[in-house]
Amino acid sequence: MDEPIEPDPTAEDAPEPETDLPPFVIEGARSARARCKLCRKKIDKDVLRLGTLIEGPYGVGYIWEHLTCAARRSFPKVEQAYQNKAWELAKSPPETVPELSELVELREEAVAKKAEQLEIPHAQIAPSGRSRCKHSGEPIEKGSLRVVLGRSVEFGSQTRTTPINVLPQYVGAALGEQDSATEIDGFEEALRANSRGVDTEAMDALLEEIGPLR
Ligand SMILES: [Zn+2]
Repeated sequence: MDEPIEPDPTAEDAPEPETDLPPFVIEGARSARARCKLCRKKIDKDVLRLGTLIEGPYGVGYIWEHLTCAARRSFPKVEQAYQNKAWELAKSPPETVPELSELVELREEAVAKKAEQLEIPHAQIAPSGRSRCKHSGEPIEKGSLRVVLGRSVEFGSQTRTTPINVLPQYVGAALGEQDSATEIDGFEEALRANSRGVDTEAMDALLEEIGPLR
C-alpha cells in the first residue's frame, strides 16, 4: 500500500475530501484527454474506462484505466466496481457495459498468455492459418506444429524477448540468427518440457523434422 497523501490544509483552493464521491466509476470517456494508467495510451472518447478515486496532494480525483486493461491486470478492482454497479454512478452512465463473465475471459486470456511467454521455446499446434514463419515468411497451416522461439528486440535502451513462430525445418537456422534469444544448448529438453498438448510421438517426429542443431 502507498502511504496516503495528506491534502495540504493551508492551500485555500484545496477542496475538502468529498466523501460522497464513489470509489469507482465506469463510464464512456467524456474526452480523449486521459491516459490509461496501465497501458499508458490515450483513452479514446466514448471508450469504457474505470475510474478509481484517489486522494492526492490537491484533493480527491479519479485515475483512469481502460476497462479492458483493468480486467487483464487488476481484476479485483473490476469485480469491486461491478459489485457497486459503478456505471450507475457515472455522470453520464453508459448505455451498456460488458458482462462480468466477458471480463473474466479477458483476464484468463491474459494469464494464459503470460504463462505461455514464460515458456519459450515450445511447440504448439497452430490454432489458425493466419500465422507466418518469421524465418521464411511462409504461411503456417492450421493444425500443423509450429515452434515458438525467442527473439531479442530493442526498445530504446532495453532489450526484451518477443515470441516468434517458426516452421520446424527453419528452427536450426533461426536459432543461429544473431537476434535469437533461445539457447541451442538444452533446446530439445526445454522444448519437451515447455510444450503442452503435444504427445511424445508428435514431439519425436517434430524433433526429427527440426534436425541436428549444429
Ligand atoms: Zn489501457
